[in-house]
Amino acid sequence: MEKVFISPAKYVQGKNVIENISQYVKGMGDQTIVMADELVWDIAGHKVVNELKKGSIKSEEVLFKGEASKEEINRISQTAKDTGATIVVGVGGGKTLDTAKAVADDLDAYTVIIPTAASADAPTSALSVVYSDDGIFESYRFYNRNPDLILVDTKVIAEAPPRLLTSGIADAMATWIEARSVIRFGGKTMAGGATTIAAEAIAEKCEETLFKYGHLAYESAKAKVVTPALEYIVEANTLLSGLGFESGGLGAAHAIHNGFTALKGDIHHLTHGEKVAFGTLVQLALEKHRLEEIEKYLGFFISLDLPVTLADIKLKDATREDIMKVAKAATIDGETIHQAFHITADQVVDAIFAADQYAKAYKKKQQL
Ligand SMILES: [Zn+2]
Repeated sequence: MEKVFISPAKYVQGKNVIENISQYVKGMGDQTIVMADELVWDIAGHKVVNELKKGSIKSEEVLFKGEASKEEINRISQTAKDTGATIVVGVGGGKTLDTAKAVADDLDAYTVIIPTAASADAPTSALSVVYSDDGIFESYRFYNRNPDLILVDTKVIAEAPPRLLTSGIADAMATWIEARSVIRFGGKTMAGGATTIAAEAIAEKCEETLFKYGHLAYESAKAKVVTPALEYIVEANTLLSGLGFESGGLGAAHAIHNGFTALKGDIHHLTHGEKVAFGTLVQLALEKHRLEEIEKYLGFFISLDLPVTLADIKLKDATREDIMKVAKAATIDGETIHQAFHITADQVVDAIFAADQYAKAYKKKQQL
């Protein structure tokens, strides 16, 4: 299998970088559509439009309704076509950004991604996760190229709820665990080939950065301040995790996350990263690890207030039948779990209950 490494054309991160947006989109055209959800319009959307205006770039403002579904993508693509936009700007969280990428692909326009939280590793990749209107995972949609510009304003990120930062840390923590499993197994990455030394190094560095600076960044986010630790974690959650998962490979953790979206109930109130945290523990339970290794991740997640048990992800009373539903969805043809394991749904069910039990035992031992 050939090696493939892909990445965005430009990544810019720093305090107040939104103020420099015109300078970075110069040469892409003078008509944008800017999409954000209701909350994000007030947080950063209007600021983006104003800064573009200062650079003589026009914007059509679009309200994103909240789900990265086919219907929503088609609706916004139509608006974008009507305005003749050559630049699609997505401002917000993972689903807004995934929708912006899909719209830009429909129009063959430039993609500018402005995350308002470091909550997931969606920004840099050349793919979107498409959900049904009810939030159930449907498919991955792949594009010919990665976004043209990722603009990460750490002032905006510092003001986002700390829970979003820890969700991003959890999503990023899956990166190395999944990539190394794909490397070991000889599987294919999301970039469509074998892993490179570059992606491997990035994924490993991602985990190292999280363990070193995760806690300090969490405290920085609680104080709503930009610190070196916050900058490190924003980069780990966004750039390192983004490049690491896409060209390093996804394994079981994300497939299990996708499986959980098939269930009804309160689990839908959890963030992507929170579900991935549990999926990561399940992947570790599938692999051969010593107690100390499992406890290293459990302790880290718990100290960041991330979920580690079925009860924490609102599935306290889940039956084996319910969990089988998750496991079957996690092991359907084409799921990333098959790039890292020879596996059946039955084994996934056992690993889910094992992960839950390991976490309960750890909490008891630590008197948590
Ligand atoms: Zn993820």
